[in-house]
Amino acid sequence: MSPPDKVIFLDRDGVINKDPGGWTKYDYVADWRDFQILPGVFEALKLLKANGCKVVIISNQAGVGKGYFTEDGLKAIDQKMRKRIVAHGGDIEASYYCVHTPEADCGCRKPKTGLFERAGKKLNMDFSGAYFIGDTRRDVEAGRRAGLKTILVLTGKASRDEAEAWGEKPDHIFENLLEAVRWLLKY
Ligand SMILES: [Mg+2]
Repeated sequence: MSPPDKVIFLDRDGVINKDPGGWTKYDYVADWRDFQILPGVFEALKLLKANGCKVVIISNQAGVGKGYFTEDGLKAIDQKMRKRIVAHGGDIEASYYCVHTPEADCGCRKPKTGLFERAGKKLNMDFSGAYFIGDTRRDVEAGRRAGLKTILVLTGKASRDEAEAWGEKPDHIFENLLEAVRWLLKY
């Protein structure tokens, strides 16, 4: 039997694509034109694939619950994102999105861990020692609650100074996804 695949969990906005806060119509990626892949991300995802790591996206998209875009629209953006990533030598094993508003008090909106649990049930993967890479304090909290190690990247909402003042700190901080992945793969 082959060993289980290694998995890396990634947040989406602020990690893969430019965080939509402050410059898009609704502060969400409601439209594919607002999906801007960050520098080095294609290379990072290609390196992960080449090293046998499966990438799983865990993302809050409350813009659906707020009525800014539909779940089908979200799926269409996800498909386009995957196509571009595959065209650049990477891959996304699965994406899990929470589409609820904060007020809905669901079990899947990060920092809750429902999306990680859904991924765990669905995918036969080795989560031991796995990392969650995100750009917010909420990501760090969610990753830790899910029993993962956490990496904060500085391409999204949080700065290094902010992160250093948090009670719950990420295990590691890197400038961007490529730097984090190179470190994870010991390049
Ligand atoms: Mg984010």
